[in-house]
Amino acid sequence: MVDFKDFNFAGLKALVRVDFNVPLNERGEITDDTRIRGAVPTLKKILNDGGSLILMSHMGKPKGKVNPKLSLGQIANAVAAALARPVKFAPDCGQAADSAAALKPGEVLLLENLRFYPEEEGKPVGIEKDDPVYNEVKKMMKRRQEEFAKTLASYGDVYVNDAFGTAHRRHASTAVVADYFDADHKMLGLLMEKEVTAIDNVLKNAQHPFTAIIGGSKVSSKLAVILNLLDKVDNLIIGGGMGFTFIKAQGGKIGDSLHEDELMPEALNVLAAAKEKGVNLSLSVQTVAGREFSNETERQTVDIFNIPDGWEGMDAGEESLKNWREIILSSKTILWNGPVGVFEFDNFAHGTGEIAKYVAEATKNGAYSLVGGGDSVAALGKFGLSDQVSYVSTGGGAMLEAIEGKTLPGVAAILNS
Ligand code: AMP
Repeated sequence: MVDFKDFNFAGLKALVRVDFNVPLNERGEITDDTRIRGAVPTLKKILNDGGSLILMSHMGKPKGKVNPKLSLGQIANAVAAALARPVKFAPDCGQAADSAAALKPGEVLLLENLRFYPEEEGKPVGIEKDDPVYNEVKKMMKRRQEEFAKTLASYGDVYVNDAFGTAHRRHASTAVVADYFDADHKMLGLLMEKEVTAIDNVLKNAQHPFTAIIGGSKVSSKLAVILNLLDKVDNLIIGGGMGFTFIKAQGGKIGDSLHEDELMPEALNVLAAAKEKGVNLSLSVQTVAGREFSNETERQTVDIFNIPDGWEGMDAGEESLKNWREIILSSKTILWNGPVGVFEFDNFAHGTGEIAKYVAEATKNGAYSLVGGGDSVAALGKFGLSDQVSYVSTGGGAMLEAIEGKTLPGVAAILNS
């Protein structure tokens, strides 16, 4: 395996998969450039070595069609500013061979949105799974995806994947393209490497006690994560909307709180498995309930097993927070994914803010903390604590799949060859 830091890019054209899927406002202006800034160390190293850059990314979900609102041309100036040099733009990422060939050392070419081509995702579009020709179309798309990846690969001498946010997808630019480079000419970029190391720090090299805090809305979206963590953690805190399914499954009265009836047997299995494995599974004991789902609604703090009809649990109560503070502060490794309340409403954000503070405090005391998932990251930002945890992951879906124990195709394409 090639180590990016040791590789000399002098005179080489580096084809780099970045995640420039930045949010834009109605005028096409970038509202948050974190992802562009995140790629800069990797890109600068290549340029400083005397290499040139062919940058490829997706933006939004154009579903295989050209959509000017999702053109990466809109961000070329921002990329140029971040790299302090001009950026050329290739308006068709599938026809950029000449522009790539003309690149001189130190020059940068940004390709148009990869997902304007259905080949990038390589999935059949506009056809239902039960259609008799679906499998044929699927095979054909796979072949076209390989062709597209081969075209992209032809632009560069070396392939670097620095897009963690899409590492859980087997797309042309994130995984398939790696097949067209030999093992000495493909590698993970600095951001990817940091992400992979952060996940290894909690899943493979955790110091104990290891606590995972899993919140968010639904059990169904995080069941696989919970099951994988049960074999690794000492403490598992389950909060937020998903907690009510566990309470109802045990006979609790949860009023109008969010829950998934069909997941109740699974919730009971998780509780039993935790007991068997000696994991301290800590659910909420008290909730701040609201009359309706709004910030201004009437509130009351109630026992989580006894929420009155017509009320829904929307934030963690003080008794829950007291328990969780104790657990978090006695931990040496902490993984946090998902808010413990409807933190978007200021009146129900207290619990999530407290969790953010406890994680920051534990980190200050020497614990290793990894925070991931769009909402927990947003919560950390909301409380000004983003720089007080050990690592903030940039990829929500990719991080969740990694915590489920899956090998990410984008990482495997490079490390397993
Ligand atoms: P997820 O995408 O599964 O991580 O869920 C994040 C969402 O869960 C956020 O939008 C929160 O507002 C929501 N959430 C957290 N706690 C609750 C709750 N008690 N009731 C309803 N939604 C919740």
